[in-house]
Amino acid sequence: MMATMTKKLFWADPYQTTLETRIVAADGPRVWVDETIFFAFSGGQESDTGTIGGLPVVEAAKEGKEISYTLAEDPGLEKDQEVTIRIDWPRRYRLMRLHFAAELVLEIMYRKLQGTEKIGAHIAEDKARLDFVWPQSITPLLPEVAAEVQAIVRKDAEILSAFSDQENEQRFWEVEGFARVPCGGTHLRRTGEVENVRLKRVNIGKGKERVDIYLVPEDG
Ligand SMILES: [Zn+2]
Repeated sequence: MMATMTKKLFWADPYQTTLETRIVAADGPRVWVDETIFFAFSGGQESDTGTIGGLPVVEAAKEGKEISYTLAEDPGLEKDQEVTIRIDWPRRYRLMRLHFAAELVLEIMYRKLQGTEKIGAHIAEDKARLDFVWPQSITPLLPEVAAEVQAIVRKDAEILSAFSDQENEQRFWEVEGFARVPCGGTHLRRTGEVENVRLKRVNIGKGKERVDIYLVPEDG
Protein backbone atom coordinates (compact mmCIF):
# COMPACT_ATOMS: atom_id res chain seq x y z
CA MET A 1 0.00 0.00 0.00
CA MET A 2 2.68 2.45 1.06
CA ALA A 3 6.10 3.02 -0.35
CA THR A 4 7.63 4.43 2.78
CA MET A 5 8.78 2.83 5.96
CA THR A 6 7.20 3.22 9.36
CA LYS A 7 9.67 4.89 11.75
CA LYS A 8 9.97 2.43 14.61
CA LEU A 9 10.57 4.39 17.78
CA PHE A 10 10.09 1.25 19.90
CA TRP A 11 13.70 0.46 19.09
CA ALA A 12 15.22 3.82 20.04
CA ASP A 13 13.16 3.97 23.23
CA PRO A 14 11.32 0.77 24.14
CA TYR A 15 10.03 2.50 27.29
CA GLN A 16 7.97 5.14 25.50
CA THR A 17 4.26 4.59 26.07
CA THR A 18 2.60 7.56 24.31
CA LEU A 19 3.38 9.18 20.98
CA GLU A 20 1.92 11.97 18.89
CA THR A 21 2.27 11.18 15.21
CA ARG A 22 0.36 11.58 11.97
CA ILE A 23 -1.52 9.34 9.59
CA VAL A 24 0.30 8.69 6.33
CA ALA A 25 -2.46 6.53 4.80
CA ALA A 26 -5.82 5.10 5.75
CA ASP A 27 -8.01 2.40 4.20
CA GLY A 28 -11.19 2.00 6.23
CA PRO A 29 -10.20 0.66 9.66
CA ARG A 30 -6.57 0.11 8.55
CA VAL A 31 -4.13 2.94 9.11
CA TRP A 32 -0.44 3.61 8.53
CA VAL A 33 1.41 6.11 10.70
CA ASP A 34 4.58 8.13 10.23
CA GLU A 35 6.20 7.02 13.50
CA THR A 36 5.23 4.29 15.93
CA ILE A 37 5.87 2.95 19.42
CA PHE A 38 3.39 0.07 18.86
CA PHE A 39 5.28 -3.20 18.28
CA ALA A 40 3.92 -5.61 15.64
CA PHE A 41 4.42 -9.36 16.07
CA SER A 42 7.83 -10.51 14.89
CA GLY A 43 10.60 -12.80 16.04
CA GLY A 44 8.10 -14.56 18.30
CA GLN A 45 7.30 -11.44 20.38
CA GLU A 46 3.57 -10.73 20.43
CA SER A 47 2.17 -7.41 19.27
CA ASP A 48 1.42 -4.66 21.74
CA THR A 49 -2.11 -3.78 22.63
CA GLY A 50 -3.29 -0.20 22.88
CA THR A 51 -5.05 2.55 20.97
CA ILE A 52 -4.54 4.84 18.01
CA GLY A 53 -6.65 7.98 18.01
CA GLY A 54 -8.50 6.55 21.01
CA LEU A 55 -9.64 3.40 19.16
CA PRO A 56 -8.41 -0.06 20.18
CA VAL A 57 -5.93 -1.66 17.75
CA VAL A 58 -7.18 -5.14 16.84
CA GLU A 59 -4.22 -6.09 14.65
CA ALA A 60 -0.70 -4.78 14.14
CA ALA A 61 0.91 -6.32 11.05
CA LYS A 62 4.49 -6.06 9.90
CA GLU A 63 4.69 -5.78 6.10
CA GLY A 64 8.33 -5.44 5.15
CA LYS A 65 9.47 -2.15 6.66
CA GLU A 66 5.92 -0.93 7.18
CA ILE A 67 3.45 -1.65 9.91
CA SER A 68 -0.29 -1.45 9.37
CA TYR A 69 -2.75 -1.15 12.23
CA THR A 70 -6.33 -2.33 12.04
CA LEU A 71 -8.60 -0.43 14.40
CA ALA A 72 -11.77 -1.70 16.07
CA GLU A 73 -13.85 0.54 13.79
CA ASP A 74 -13.34 2.84 10.84
CA PRO A 75 -11.97 6.01 12.41
CA GLY A 76 -12.55 8.15 9.32
CA LEU A 77 -8.97 9.34 9.57
CA GLU A 78 -7.21 10.99 6.66
CA LYS A 79 -3.63 11.53 5.58
CA ASP A 80 -1.74 14.09 7.70
CA GLN A 81 -4.21 14.01 10.58
CA GLU A 82 -2.54 14.02 14.00
CA VAL A 83 -3.16 10.99 16.22
CA THR A 84 -2.00 9.78 19.60
CA ILE A 85 -0.71 6.23 20.00
CA ARG A 86 -0.87 4.66 23.46
CA ILE A 87 0.38 1.20 24.35
CA ASP A 88 -0.55 -1.05 27.27
CA TRP A 89 2.68 -0.59 29.22
CA PRO A 90 2.22 -3.28 31.91
CA ARG A 91 1.72 -5.79 29.09
CA ARG A 92 4.69 -4.51 27.04
CA TYR A 93 6.98 -4.52 30.07
CA ARG A 94 6.09 -8.14 30.86
CA LEU A 95 6.73 -9.00 27.19
CA MET A 96 10.15 -7.29 27.39
CA ARG A 97 11.08 -9.04 30.64
CA LEU A 98 9.97 -12.45 29.34
CA HIS A 99 11.65 -11.78 26.01
CA PHE A 100 14.98 -11.09 27.64
CA ALA A 101 14.59 -14.03 30.02
CA ALA A 102 14.09 -16.18 26.89
CA GLU A 103 17.21 -14.64 25.30
CA LEU A 104 19.27 -15.61 28.35
CA VAL A 105 17.84 -19.14 28.50
CA LEU A 106 18.44 -19.60 24.77
CA GLU A 107 22.09 -18.53 24.95
CA ILE A 108 22.78 -20.77 27.94
CA MET A 109 20.96 -23.73 26.37
CA TYR A 110 22.98 -23.39 23.17
CA ARG A 111 26.13 -23.69 25.26
CA LYS A 112 24.90 -26.74 27.16
CA LEU A 113 23.23 -28.60 24.28
CA GLN A 114 26.02 -28.71 21.74
CA GLY A 115 24.56 -29.10 18.26
CA THR A 116 20.98 -28.30 19.23
CA GLU A 117 18.76 -26.13 17.11
CA LYS A 118 15.98 -23.78 18.16
CA ILE A 119 12.79 -24.78 16.33
CA GLY A 120 10.35 -22.37 17.90
CA ALA A 121 9.96 -19.38 20.17
CA HIS A 122 6.99 -17.42 21.41
CA ILE A 123 6.83 -14.52 23.84
CA ALA A 124 3.42 -13.89 25.37
CA GLU A 125 2.38 -11.79 28.35
CA ASP A 126 2.08 -14.70 30.79
CA LYS A 127 5.02 -16.83 29.64
CA ALA A 128 7.67 -17.38 27.01
CA ARG A 129 8.54 -20.68 25.40
CA LEU A 130 11.51 -22.04 23.51
CA ASP A 131 11.58 -25.29 21.53
CA PHE A 132 14.74 -27.21 20.75
CA VAL A 133 15.74 -30.31 18.84
CA TRP A 134 17.17 -32.64 21.49
CA PRO A 135 16.95 -36.40 21.98
CA GLN A 136 16.47 -36.56 25.74
CA SER A 137 14.72 -34.71 28.55
CA ILE A 138 16.38 -31.46 29.54
CA THR A 139 14.78 -31.56 32.99
CA PRO A 140 18.09 -32.43 34.73
CA LEU A 141 19.73 -29.36 33.15
CA LEU A 142 17.15 -26.80 34.14
CA PRO A 143 18.37 -26.01 37.69
CA GLU A 144 21.82 -25.02 36.40
CA VAL A 145 20.31 -23.09 33.46
CA ALA A 146 18.08 -21.21 35.90
CA ALA A 147 21.06 -20.51 38.19
CA GLU A 148 23.10 -19.10 35.29
CA VAL A 149 20.18 -16.93 34.18
CA GLN A 150 19.80 -15.53 37.71
CA ALA A 151 23.55 -14.88 37.93
CA ILE A 152 23.40 -12.61 34.87
CA VAL A 153 20.21 -10.98 36.15
CA ARG A 154 21.86 -10.31 39.54
CA LYS A 155 24.78 -8.57 37.82
CA ASP A 156 22.26 -6.03 36.49
CA ALA A 157 24.44 -5.68 33.40
CA GLU A 158 23.75 -3.10 30.72
CA ILE A 159 21.96 -4.41 27.62
CA LEU A 160 23.07 -2.59 24.50
CA SER A 161 20.56 -2.61 21.60
CA ALA A 162 21.49 -1.19 18.21
CA PHE A 163 21.44 -1.64 14.45
CA SER A 164 23.92 -3.97 12.78
CA ASP A 165 22.45 -2.88 9.42
CA GLN A 166 20.20 0.17 9.56
CA GLU A 167 19.24 0.04 5.87
CA ASN A 168 17.77 -3.44 6.28
CA GLU A 169 16.56 -2.85 9.85
CA GLN A 170 18.76 -5.59 11.29
CA ARG A 171 19.17 -5.22 15.06
CA PHE A 172 21.15 -6.93 17.79
CA TRP A 173 21.44 -6.90 21.57
CA GLU A 174 24.68 -7.28 23.48
CA VAL A 175 25.68 -7.88 27.06
CA GLU A 176 29.40 -7.32 27.27
CA GLY A 177 31.29 -10.46 28.18
CA PHE A 178 28.22 -12.63 27.66
CA ALA A 179 26.76 -12.52 24.15
CA ARG A 180 25.84 -10.49 21.11
CA VAL A 181 22.71 -11.79 19.38
CA PRO A 182 20.73 -10.64 16.30
CA CYS A 183 17.15 -9.73 17.25
CA GLY A 184 14.54 -7.19 16.19
CA GLY A 185 12.49 -7.28 19.37
CA THR A 186 12.24 -4.70 22.15
CA HIS A 187 14.86 -5.15 24.84
CA LEU A 188 15.32 -4.05 28.42
CA ARG A 189 18.05 -1.60 29.42
CA ARG A 190 19.48 -3.82 32.16
CA THR A 191 19.47 -7.53 32.91
CA GLY A 192 18.26 -6.86 36.48
CA GLU A 193 14.84 -5.87 35.17
CA VAL A 194 14.12 -9.54 34.39
CA GLU A 195 14.01 -10.19 38.17
CA ASN A 196 13.09 -13.80 38.96
CA VAL A 197 12.21 -16.51 36.49
CA ARG A 198 10.98 -20.06 36.76
CA LEU A 199 11.72 -22.66 34.08
CA LYS A 200 9.57 -25.67 33.31
CA ARG A 201 10.20 -28.46 30.83
CA VAL A 202 7.23 -29.48 28.68
CA ASN A 203 7.03 -32.78 26.83
CA ILE A 204 6.15 -32.03 23.19
CA GLY A 205 7.09 -35.36 21.64
CA LYS A 206 10.08 -37.41 20.62
CA GLY A 207 13.26 -35.57 19.75
CA LYS A 208 11.92 -32.18 20.80
CA GLU A 209 12.17 -30.28 24.05
CA ARG A 210 10.26 -27.23 25.26
CA VAL A 211 11.13 -24.82 28.06
CA ASP A 212 8.38 -22.61 29.43
CA ILE A 213 9.63 -19.46 31.15
CA TYR A 214 7.60 -17.62 33.78
CA LEU A 215 8.18 -14.46 35.76
CA VAL A 216 7.90 -14.93 39.52
CA PRO A 217 5.93 -13.88 41.38
CA GLU A 218 3.49 -14.59 38.56
CA ASP A 219 1.52 -11.44 39.16
CA GLY A 220 4.70 -9.36 39.68
ZN1 LIG B 1 15.45 -10.33 21.40
